[in-house]
Amino acid sequence: MINKERLELMLKMMQPELKAYLVTILEDMGRTVYNEDGFLYSPGKFPVLICAHMDTVYDKLPEVIYGQKVVDAEIWTSPTGIGGDDRCGIEMILNILEEYDVSIAFLEDEEIGGIGASKFSPFLNESVKEKINYIIEVDRKGYNEAVFYDCQNEEFISFITEDYFHFDYGSFSDISFVAPHNDIAAVNLSAGYYNEHCGPQEMINLSDMQESVNAIKNILKRTDVDKKYEFGHWEECDTCEYLESVEDDNDLENSLELPCGFEW
Ligand SMILES: [Zn+2]
Repeated sequence: MINKERLELMLKMMQPELKAYLVTILEDMGRTVYNEDGFLYSPGKFPVLICAHMDTVYDKLPEVIYGQKVVDAEIWTSPTGIGGDDRCGIEMILNILEEYDVSIAFLEDEEIGGIGASKFSPFLNESVKEKINYIIEVDRKGYNEAVFYDCQNEEFISFITEDYFHFDYGSFSDISFVAPHNDIAAVNLSAGYYNEHCGPQEMINLSDMQESVNAIKNILKRTDVDKKYEFGHWEECDTCEYLESVEDDNDLENSLELPCGFEW
């Protein structure tokens, strides 16, 4: 179950304090922790890596947290911005760890361009990478959304979206660095926060967090430990590549019809 006390505690910590707190929590679980510049990494035996980020967009901690019941859901907000993006993801991963010994990465400074992710990406050596079948990031707004960014591995997309999660689009997150760099398929899944980056409008739906945790555990449950999913690169035809190089040429745009379905 989502640990509300722990979540509230983490919401009220700035990134350095949170990082130190997470080292303690992980070590108390008996886990090995690599405390590096830009990230924490803790290897596990189950062949999946799960990650979230430790920073938020806010300069100030949420001093007050308000909770209210809306129908069956419990919603949390704060007048200064609650920072559920991505403290929700961290709490959810700690939940998952109680049942699955996955590898985890907690990354710094996602909100200013994935700084921690770019430091973490080259950290995994070949023998470690071989033991990671795929990567889950828990840093997507809302509920039941799955974003794959540039990873076009259709088999992986079908596997992830088989039950609870559905395919959605996004622009950038930590896995945009980590997945292609390590040639491992990755997905970003909903973490139950809404209106992220919007100060007092940002909110956390604790029921959605719990639902998402259960759905992620289901994905882990139906994971074949011997099945590895590689990062799926876009397939482009020669014509498309050529046209991208002359994208600004209006005459060309008006004069060609392309059988390969290239869109300007
Ligand atoms: Zn985020």
